[in-house]
Amino acid sequence: MNAEQVIQVLQAMNQVIDREAQYLTDLDAAIGDGDHGINMKRGFAAVSLKLEAESTEDCGAVLKTVAMTLISTVGGASGPLYGTAFLKAAQAANGKTELTKEDALALLTAAIEGVQFRGKAERGEKTMLDLLIPVKEAYADALAQGLTLEETKQTILTVMDESIAFTKTIRATKGRASYLGDRSIGHQDPGATSSYFLIKTVMDSVG
Ligand code: ADP
Ligand code: MG
Repeated sequence: MNAEQVIQVLQAMNQVIDREAQYLTDLDAAIGDGDHGINMKRGFAAVSLKLEAESTEDCGAVLKTVAMTLISTVGGASGPLYGTAFLKAAQAANGKTELTKEDALALLTAAIEGVQFRGKAERGEKTMLDLLIPVKEAYADALAQGLTLEETKQTILTVMDESIAFTKTIRATKGRASYLGDRSIGHQDPGATSSYFLIKTVMDSVG
């Protein structure tokens, strides 16, 4: 995947987030303050505009633009968290004109480190990490086992469905939803859901 294709994926992310914004906001209304879809939509719309003017062959530079735009335009917890995720991914992609499937794993790993550095959450606290970490592990296994692209996509989709379902069963201990304590149980995490859409968009655009 070259920088132009990375930009296409990000434009597709904007479309998906735009389409799912109400859903994300409804999820956040149940356990937070009902702005996750609004936050994400604002951020990715700004990213989309910025990228229309981007003309670089460096995948890292593209991702850095995304990071800076998200950090400066998205409110709430998710702006700095996704912004830091893209910033770390940008560092991992720095100077690369082409990203391989191994690079994709390195970028995802770096992005997760960014989220954890910024938000100090662990897996199991009902956040986007409960989607991102299982996806990373499944993807690492798929690469190690030499699965085909189709098999890899299937495996990751299954893991994502399970992970989203799992967020409903656990109590939030980070972010706004943690104010609800046990009453957060039974609700799906909005941030894990936006991460689902972002990863799904990447998968749909390869192969
Ligand atoms: P806010 O909570 O400030 O209103 P958003 O509604 O945009 O921000 O985002 C909420 C989402 O952010 C949650 O559903 C959760 O997935 C994610 N989140 C919150 N705190 C953290 C954290 N410390 N680490 C990782 N993700 C977090
Ligand atoms: Mg919110």
